[in-house]
Amino acid sequence: MSNGSTFPPHRRLGVRLALALAALLAVCSAGWWAWGSSRGDGPAKDGAPKAAPAPSAPGPSQRRSDAEAGGAGTGDGKSPTTGGDRPEKTSDDADLKGNRATLLKGKVVLLDPGHNPGNREHPREISRSVDVGNGRKECDTTGTATNAGYSEAAFTLDVARRARTLLRELGATVVFTQDADRPYGPCVNERAAAGNTAGAGNKTDTANTAGAANKASDGNTAAPENKTDTASTASAGNTAGTENKTGAANTAHTEHKTGADAAVSIHADGSGAGHRGFHVILPARVTAGAADTSPIVKPSRELGERLADRFAAATGSARSNYIGGGTGLDVRADLGGLNLSTIPKVFIECGNMRDPRDAAQFTDPEWRQKAARGITEGITDFLTG
Ligand SMILES: [Zn+2]
Repeated sequence: MSNGSTFPPHRRLGVRLALALAALLAVCSAGWWAWGSSRGDGPAKDGAPKAAPAPSAPGPSQRRSDAEAGGAGTGDGKSPTTGGDRPEKTSDDADLKGNRATLLKGKVVLLDPGHNPGNREHPREISRSVDVGNGRKECDTTGTATNAGYSEAAFTLDVARRARTLLRELGATVVFTQDADRPYGPCVNERAAAGNTAGAGNKTDTANTAGAANKASDGNTAAPENKTDTASTASAGNTAGTENKTGAANTAHTEHKTGADAAVSIHADGSGAGHRGFHVILPARVTAGAADTSPIVKPSRELGERLADRFAAATGSARSNYIGGGTGLDVRADLGGLNLSTIPKVFIECGNMRDPRDAAQFTDPEWRQKAARGITEGITDFLTG
C-alpha cells in the first residue's frame, strides 16, 4: 500500500523531467538553426551565437521555415536536406557554442574580391594579356562603379572582408586573393591559382597570415602530430598541406589536397539601368590548354545553387532580371578565374551597379553585411551539406 502510494508521483516526476528535457532539446536545436537568420548586423554582434539559442526559439517549425526561406528558387530540395543534418550534431546545449565555432574547422575558403582599388592607377599592367586555357584575356580590369562613383573594387573588398569575419567565426581558414595590400591585380590566372593552392600556400603566403593565426587558435586541440598521422594515411605527398589535413573534407577531395575547399569571386555588374538583381556564374566545362574544369563543374554548381539560395534569402534581392532566365545562375567559359580553377569555384555578381536601386543597396553597409551573410551561409551549406 505504501509502495502503491509512492511510485506514481515518482513516475509523474519522471515524465515531467522527460518532457522538460525534450523541450530543452527542441529549443536548443531551433536556436542553433536560427543562427543564420539572427546574424544580420554583422561583426558587432559577435555575441550572437551566445544569445541566439536561448530566448526566441519557437520550436522545430522555425527550422523548417528557415530552410524554406533559403530555398526560394531551384535549390529548394537541398536546404531541408542540409537542415536535417545539423540539429543532430548540436542537440546538446553544451556543445552548441563549440560546434558553431568549429563548424568549418579545417576548411579553407578562398575569397576573391573582384578587381583591386589600385587597378585604376596601373592600366598598362592590368591590360596585359594572360592565358586562360581556351584563349587570352586581360590580366584584370578596373571593374565598374555606381553612377555616383562608388567602385566595384571597394564594394567587393568590403563584402569579402565582412564574409571573412563571419567565416572565421565558424572556424574556417579564409584566404584572400588580394586585400588592397598590393598595388594592383592579381591577374585572373593568379586568382585561380590562389584557390588551387590555398590549402598549402596558406601557411607561407603573406596575405594569409590572418588565416594562419586562425588555424593556430582554433586548431590547437588537434596537435600537429595528429594532423600528420591522419594525413599520412591519405597521402604521403601532401606534407605541404599538413594543417589542412585536419579537415574531414580533405579525405574526400583526394585530388585537390592543396586547394581551398571552396572559392567565391565577388563582383558587381555594370549593366544598363533597369537591369537588376544578382546572379551566380558557374564554370562551363572547358578543356583547353591549361584549363580542365571537368572535375569542378558539378561541385561548383552545387556551391552556386546554395550561394544563390542563401544570398536571395539574406539580402531579399531578386535573381537577375537580365541574365539566367530568372534562375540567378549563368554558365560561362570565358572567365580565367573559373577556367583555371581546380577547386569548386563560382563568381557572384551581387547586382548591377549602374541601376540606381541596386546601387542604393550597395552603398548601404547594412545591405553589404546581409550580402556577406548570404555568401557565408551559401558556402557553409556547401561545405557541410
Ligand atoms: Zn567585376
